[in-house]
Amino acid sequence: MTVFSSANLDNHEKVIFVNDNATGLQAIIAIHNTKLGPAIGGLRFWPYQNESEALSDVLRLSRGMSYKCAISKIPFGGGKTVVIQGDGFKKTPELLSKIGQAIGDLNGQYITGEDVGSTVEDMLSLRKETDHVMGAPLEKGGSGDPSSMTALGCFVGIKASVKNRFNTDDLKGVRVAVQGLGNVGWNLCTRLHTAGAILFVCDISESISKRCAEAFGATVIDINNIYDADVDVFSPCAMGGVINDKTISRLKAKVIAGGANNQLATEAHGKYLQEQGVLYAPDYVINAGGVIQFAFERQAYNENKPFNPDLIKPKVVSIYNTLEDVFRMAEEEKISTSLAADRIAEERMA
Ligand code: NAD
Repeated sequence: MTVFSSANLDNHEKVIFVNDNATGLQAIIAIHNTKLGPAIGGLRFWPYQNESEALSDVLRLSRGMSYKCAISKIPFGGGKTVVIQGDGFKKTPELLSKIGQAIGDLNGQYITGEDVGSTVEDMLSLRKETDHVMGAPLEKGGSGDPSSMTALGCFVGIKASVKNRFNTDDLKGVRVAVQGLGNVGWNLCTRLHTAGAILFVCDISESISKRCAEAFGATVIDINNIYDADVDVFSPCAMGGVINDKTISRLKAKVIAGGANNQLATEAHGKYLQEQGVLYAPDYVINAGGVIQFAFERQAYNENKPFNPDLIKPKVVSIYNTLEDVFRMAEEEKISTSLAADRIAEERMA
């Protein structure tokens, strides 16, 4: 495994390896950029195949967080923690305590929150060791699960994208394929269904898909066939890298807009979408609702005020306008939307 010559090392400020034999903890904390404020980014537990895969993931995800904060105009930088779930891994209170201590050692340079594999209860455990944690339950002074705000951002982001491509943001009768029906995907389906969209869904869990069909009249599609669905919008809400060499030419949708992080396998795929007339809503722009929630939680903490959930929504809804700015720049400069978003974010970080 290489670190300093890793393809994903992008002028990261710090990469910290945390090891504890007693609890079996093997974690990596990456701090990408703190020019706009302390690094913010969730704690991910994942059964990585090897250390190199974990390093690539934490480097890509922390960089994405810097760009997400910059484009969303929130005063934070990008960071991330990944924990390798190897053989016999157990998420024990002792292991969570070690993670909390490692985050505490950074003295507020990095603030964590929930991500894939971590829960609001885990955030409470970390808070026993450090204050630099967000997303604990509302009744315990945190801001709770961010997925609902992430889904709201995706919903308005789909509207902005549909408006750009089809000249109306009315979603009645618009055919949307949602890949992944977890916290974000399910919540998004609720909003899309209420707005009159026609849903096509898939999840590796058959029972969730079945429930979605019952709740929203959605058509369930096999996970391997979702890319071929004859829809207007493809909404990736499961995992990253789904727009790749194998899937890109199969897509029929004119809009790609969903909550998953790192949807494009490479920037070349963004360029290809542009050439094909497919509008891509850059992932870190459209899925910023959760981090916006965390920014408001942190601001309340810094000002010693109670967290007020009502203040967040207008900022999350403004993702609609942020995407319009990105689409405008992409059109004017004849570049992909992913590159346009990067340029706006980089200008703010410079
Ligand atoms: P989740 O774990 O609750 O849901 C993911 C769902 O995807 C699960 O139901 C899982 O069964 C399903 N899935 C996994 N592989 C699949 C496949 N190959 N095909 C179809 N379905 C599959 O996660 P989440 O919190 O809903 O997050 C979803 C995505 O959004 C992730 O990429 C996450 O990084 C990103 N994201 C989430 C938030 C948030 O606030 N939760 C914020 C920003 C980005």
